[in-house]
Amino acid sequence: MSDPVPQRAEIVVDLAAVRHNVRILKDLVSVDGPVQLMTVVKADGYGHGMVEVAAAARDAGADWLGVATIDEALALRAAGDEGPLLCWLSAPGDDFAAAVRAGVEVTAYSVAELDEIAAAGPARVQLKVDTGLSRGGAARADWESLFAAAAAHEEAGRVRVTGVFSHLAASDEPDHPANDQQEQSFRDALALAERAGLAPDVTHLANSAATLLRPSSHFDLVRCGIASYGLDPAPGTSPRIGLRPAMTVRARLVLSKEVAAGDGVSYGHTWVAPQDTTVGLVPAGYAEGIPRAAGNTASAWVADSLRPVRGRVCMDQLVVDLQGELLPPGTEVVLFGPGDRGEPTAQDWAEAVGTISYEIVTRVGGRLVRRHVDSEGTTR
Ligand SMILES: *Cc1c(COP(=O)(O)O)cnc(C)c1O
Repeated sequence: MSDPVPQRAEIVVDLAAVRHNVRILKDLVSVDGPVQLMTVVKADGYGHGMVEVAAAARDAGADWLGVATIDEALALRAAGDEGPLLCWLSAPGDDFAAAVRAGVEVTAYSVAELDEIAAAGPARVQLKVDTGLSRGGAARADWESLFAAAAAHEEAGRVRVTGVFSHLAASDEPDHPANDQQEQSFRDALALAERAGLAPDVTHLANSAATLLRPSSHFDLVRCGIASYGLDPAPGTSPRIGLRPAMTVRARLVLSKEVAAGDGVSYGHTWVAPQDTTVGLVPAGYAEGIPRAAGNTASAWVADSLRPVRGRVCMDQLVVDLQGELLPPGTEVVLFGPGDRGEPTAQDWAEAVGTISYEIVTRVGGRLVRRHVDSEGTTR
């Protein structure tokens, strides 16, 4: 980003990149027929700002939005979103009536949950079946009773079953046997739902990785989270479809100074300068969600070069190797971004610390100021 006066440390989110990614995903799934696209904006839009990302996704043609909690869904409604919206992770005591009033579709994993939803109805509800992730959703042994209860509630006018869905365990590993097993199991569930008299509008299974790698899993709707933010759901495996990372984390250098050969840097002196060099102080640390594990493993981009993080990442700050240069305070430091200037990406940081890009973008925050920009120049 070329803003002349960046904050001391900030998250810049390019909403044009989000729209670009949403359009690419929509085009991708439209090739084989009328498949709808849900943009998943839970967890504050994977750290990108839920409300802003949601509006950008709708602009670019997202048919649905998906979130985890009722509170997230209500926040979208409060911000003015009126389109199809599904949430899928309720907890005992959740306010289903508020969701129903707001026109939010809720998810039932069990007959007990369905009964609670029906009591707050008439509700639009989707049923989640566990096809092998062994996380949320009805276990196989309970599918028939859940479908029968749903049909009875539907008959009585207390619910309308709008969808049946499931979630994949290993879609980022296309050759993993769980993919075929889960897809077959999902087809079994759909057959049982039909036999119970249910006629859902949408059936869905695919997340981002399956959207890119497994067309047979697309059914009526795909649920894309990470790819909407321009990050690769299956690094090294996904086809290149032109996604653009939307998030840049950057800061301004506070100080640069010389260190002599043999000087230790940061707590514990886990890095000792092998020769005379210079280091720069970056005002962001693990309180900002910068992984402490990035000490001595990740790099930042400063003055057109990759600069390794030296020593431990501290709570408020970290140190980079300026490799002999003394750069003025205020110099831009890009921790990660889209990568087109040569700067690291969230994926690079994920690899440096042994995690996934999802965790990198979702965890950054703390005192970082988040700003939304639009590189296409349109405003809303
Ligand atoms: C988070 C989530 C998604 C999105 O997954 P991505 O890998 O980010 O595309 C889809 N479906 C469900 C049920 C989820 O919880």
